[in-house]
Amino acid sequence: MEFVHQTLPQRVRFAPGQAAAGVAAEVAELDGRRVMLIASDREAEDAARIAADVPVVVSHHEVAMHVPVPVAERAREVARQHRADVVLTIGGGSATGLGKAVALTSGLPVVAVPTTYAGSEATDVWGMTEDGTKTTGVDARVLPRSVVYDAGLTLSLPVDLTVASTLNALAHSVDALWAPRADPINAALALEGARGLVSALPAVADEPEAMPGREGLLYGAYLAAVAFTSAGSGLHHKICHVLGGRFDLPHAPTHAVVLPHVLALNAPFAPDAERRLADVFDADTAVAGLEALRRRVRAPGALRDLGLRESDIPDAAEAILPVVPASNPAPVGRDELERLLHDAWEGTDPR
Ligand code: NAD
Repeated sequence: MEFVHQTLPQRVRFAPGQAAAGVAAEVAELDGRRVMLIASDREAEDAARIAADVPVVVSHHEVAMHVPVPVAERAREVARQHRADVVLTIGGGSATGLGKAVALTSGLPVVAVPTTYAGSEATDVWGMTEDGTKTTGVDARVLPRSVVYDAGLTLSLPVDLTVASTLNALAHSVDALWAPRADPINAALALEGARGLVSALPAVADEPEAMPGREGLLYGAYLAAVAFTSAGSGLHHKICHVLGGRFDLPHAPTHAVVLPHVLALNAPFAPDAERRLADVFDADTAVAGLEALRRRVRAPGALRDLGLRESDIPDAAEAILPVVPASNPAPVGRDELERLLHDAWEGTDPR
């Protein structure tokens, strides 16, 4: 056993039903006096309530998926103009991502209050999109200083988004098992995260407003994201970044569709990860377990339903090929990528 593992510095507060008090405590901890609040229009009302006890100098609502560069630039300008000293993000990965874009150039500390299971709040990865290309990078400045998890804020997430977002979180766990910096510590976190997600999702799909299941999903999503940020981007994330950035596919549903195909490709070449995942699913194989779960919760099934055209597949494969991680267990060339993308496009049964 020889490896180097880095744990990122972050405070995490699980506070069901107490986001406002949690945010007030975290902003006070940072001695924040001029808070820039970032939340999309949809989250604006909740956000105002949650931020009621902190000194907000400006509320910014222009949030867009995959953080287009002009959107980031405008948010940075707002932060400058208002001399913000803390950025508070309330919302899904898109709101967190915009806060990270501000932090990247300003160094301002971020307090993140997630309302989906995207997990961006636990990573030091930023992403921005320009002219159809999504660029990602790693920078310590973008890691939120603290995260306030209030499962009550996720009760309103519709079942289809809940399912897709949870499978996005599960993808962090699965990809962490063979990503470039995979190690036994992030594997342990990834598998415990996967266990939390897999055990909570069916109950939440049946009863979206039950708190214990929602808390289980947040717990699993956090662990999965910690494992992902430590292990780095594996093949699955490389594929989804290209699909999201180049073809503007929706983030979480794209992950939900692609994951079983990456798992089916890699499982025969990663027997230990396969066995441990199968155990999490309590299934004969990891692929069978994931597919059973996906059917149980009616997960999105095909990239063609998300807006990808069949004629886009060669172009997508071309863009993914140079970024396939050397650590990927299965050998991956153009043929394997085109086949995988075609299967995901069509929604074939990965078993
Ligand atoms: P999102 O933040 O765009 O949210 C999806 C939709 O759900 C939006 O319409 C939003 O308003 C709505 N929503 C959010 N919370 C809700 C709630 N509680 N109730 C009802 N509706 C709600 O999507 P996402 O999947 O959370 O995040 C995707 C973005 O995050 C992408 O840009 C992706 O690249 C990024 N991301 C980054 C990382 C990272 O480590 N940097 C990790 C994961 C995702």
